[in-house]
Amino acid sequence: RVAISLPSLRPDAFSVGLAEAVSRVRKSGLTFAPEAGTQRLRDVINKNVTEDDLLGAAKIAYEKGWNLIKLYFMIGLPTETYEDLDGIVDLVGKVARIARGNGGKSLNVSISPFSPKPNTPFQWDPQDTLSSLGDKCRYLSKHISRKSVHLRWRDPEVTGIETLLARGDRRIGRVLYRAWEKGAKFDEWSEHFNFERWTSALDESGIALEDELGPRRIGHALPWEIIQSGIRSDFLLREREKAARAEVTPDCRTGDCSGCGIRDLGFDRKFVKEHSTAENAEDAEKQKIRERSTTSAPSAVKSAAGGGDTSPTESRYGRRQKKRRSAPAPSMAGTKVRLQYAKEAQMRFIGHLDVTRAFERTIRQARIPIAYSQGFHPHPKASFGPPLALGIESLAEYVDLQLSEPYPWDIVASLNSILPPGLRIVDAKPIFGKTLALNAAINAAAYDVSLPPEVELTKAVESLLAASSVILRRTTKQGIKDVDIRPGIRELRSGSGVLSMTLTLGQQTSPRPMELLKHLLGWPSDRMCALKITRTGLYIERNGRKLSPMQVL
Ligand code: SF4
Repeated sequence: RVAISLPSLRPDAFSVGLAEAVSRVRKSGLTFAPEAGTQRLRDVINKNVTEDDLLGAAKIAYEKGWNLIKLYFMIGLPTETYEDLDGIVDLVGKVARIARGNGGKSLNVSISPFSPKPNTPFQWDPQDTLSSLGDKCRYLSKHISRKSVHLRWRDPEVTGIETLLARGDRRIGRVLYRAWEKGAKFDEWSEHFNFERWTSALDESGIALEDELGPRRIGHALPWEIIQSGIRSDFLLREREKAARAEVTPDCRTGDCSGCGIRDLGFDRKFVKEHSTAENAEDAEKQKIRERSTTSAPSAVKSAAGGGDTSPTESRYGRRQKKRRSAPAPSMAGTKVRLQYAKEAQMRFIGHLDVTRAFERTIRQARIPIAYSQGFHPHPKASFGPPLALGIESLAEYVDLQLSEPYPWDIVASLNSILPPGLRIVDAKPIFGKTLALNAAINAAAYDVSLPPEVELTKAVESLLAASSVILRRTTKQGIKDVDIRPGIRELRSGSGVLSMTLTLGQQTSPRPMELLKHLLGWPSDRMCALKITRTGLYIERNGRKLSPMQVL
């Protein structure tokens, strides 16, 4: 029931075996990182993988049931030419053919501009110019066939700023601050990234981006040398010279020590010996997995072609094997519990999905006997109430848990001892009999907004309540719509620096707290973010009665 996701893998058969060992339930996608399109350039960056490794790994992965492979390449690597880009086009074409040959499986290709990072052999090298990187993106976009390939790339301007921040000296602190003042926030999200903010912050600080992304002089002090990484500069220079000759350095975990300098940090021979003994055991295990992967692949191919030895389970001809019904799931005691929890100030920028994940992990760690759904994607049976908008705190959020054993009496204390700061269980009640799911039952929410002393909303509230309709413009997936939110405003009061409101939930015209506040205050979004908004209650309104989800049990 634990899903393990793997980062990008070395493109070889062992990696597929490893992925298979940890992904017995779900085989959604595998990421391989050949990084360069030709062997020459892969040798320059010391990648130590061949085209055969990648094609073999892709073939095995598709045959073993993965429906999607993601390939990761870099452009703008030192010594790169357009021949290397043609190598990417060629390699992608070959993997795409394997994908099509395996029943039209998917292939995603991700292209990122290379950023010469500190403490690497390329720390003295320039980043490729933004215009050249743009040309290369267009070249690949034009030449990579889109037949069964989904191509995406990272914006060269984003990589430019990433390199600026990674290699900059103390002057870049000023640039960072100016960019923030100009509105640069959450820049990793493409919809928030604005290159002009950065270039104007650089201009105002008298710094040229081209200089910062340009080459560094060997022998001159580098800003990051104040941090002792353990990697010696002469080793990096040696590696850089070898890279220029496309000469690879063997992996020191399996080959000889290359003298990078890490040992000088104090790892003694004993550590190295123990380290290598552990590695040997790991290598033996790797070898076993590798053998399993490589020997099973041809047999699968043979059986598909109708030749060679086929085990009964691999047979594709003659009468189909009867599907064996799996044993019925163990019956559950059928206990359910409803929890009320608070999401406090330090968690207000954590989204709903992350909160649900925090609960899943806490429940597992606290050994709460949660029931799981059946099938290939077993999920803990936890049903949350209406999601809370980002930036809002809450005293009253709810989740129903289906348990496989009777309700543990110490559930509140057990969960609270593990939940991260800012999430706190307030109350728990067992559920007897049938109840509507939280999302279906809850139809109103109450909020308190703390207002600055200079803000006076009494008149605005009175005129809003006197109006028969309040039309707001809302951007939806279907386009811009005018919505009358007045029927959804149940209560609205202003006084003593607090605006209290009760709003309907779950209908298309239900008001959102932020849009109602914006309507009343007329502030820009940035200023609105500083308001302290707390959801004080969720309610089930039925037959003129307003009850909390705990009161209906
Ligand atoms: S064995 Fe240790 S010191 Fe030698 S190259 Fe590898 S990491 Fe560096």
